Amino acid sequence: MSHNNFQNYKLSTDITRALSSLEYNLPTEVQRKVIPIALKKCDLVVKSQTGSGKTAAFSIPICELIDWEENKPQALVLTPTRELAVQVTEDMTNIGRYKRIKANAIYGKQSFARQKLELKQKNHVVVGTPGRVLDHIQKGTLSLERLNFLVVDEADEMLNMGFIDQVEAIITELPTARVTMLFSATLPPDIESLCRKYMKDPVHIEIQATG
Ligand code: ADP
Ligand code: MG
Repeated sequence: MSHNNFQNYKLSTDITRALSSLEYNLPTEVQRKVIPIALKKCDLVVKSQTGSGKTAAFSIPICELIDWEENKPQALVLTPTRELAVQVTEDMTNIGRYKRIKANAIYGKQSFARQKLELKQKNHVVVGTPGRVLDHIQKGTLSLERLNFLVVDEADEMLNMGFIDQVEAIITELPTARVTMLFSATLPPDIESLCRKYMKDPVHIEIQATG
């Protein structure tokens, strides 16, 4: 009998069913470390290599804790690229399938007007690239007053691509009573200082690279 399966987290049936249909039978190491802490709503800084299962590590607790009835976005995931925004939206949608979680990707080079209409609908989770997210916040087409979770995914890539100022500008627009989780393969000094500035006693998790 395994002591490291998803049953340990006492997730709702809607989420465990989704994990079964995705054939996620055992949590990866980063998921074993992140899920219990995120479910307790603690801030997190996670250093873990590509392919270690970070998306589900934040998507599972977020989907679990989302209040379906609330129409305004409760979670914002910032990603450095539109491909990653689309991927995270898909993963979040799959994990939240039976709970009917609505996740929406918003990124540049796509109709702002169409996104504006989509953002008027029910959205539990918004996933997007920093420039376009900031644009929607500044134009008043994305209201984040009900936000409970902020995820900064691939933070080192954000830095490399010059998005850190935009990420910071977005953070200053968010409610301070929120959970913040930052994921990165490396933690350069600028990312460390961002964490010190905007997180509340974050738990640091580092997964050693294998192979
Ligand atoms: P990372 O963000 O760390 O680069 P991903 O979240 O993209 O990694 O996950 C890498 C791959 O592993 C994806 O194809 C995902 O579907 C798969 N995966 C994640 N968690 C599990 C799990 N618990 N069991 C099986 N496959 C998983
Ligand atoms: Mg990832």
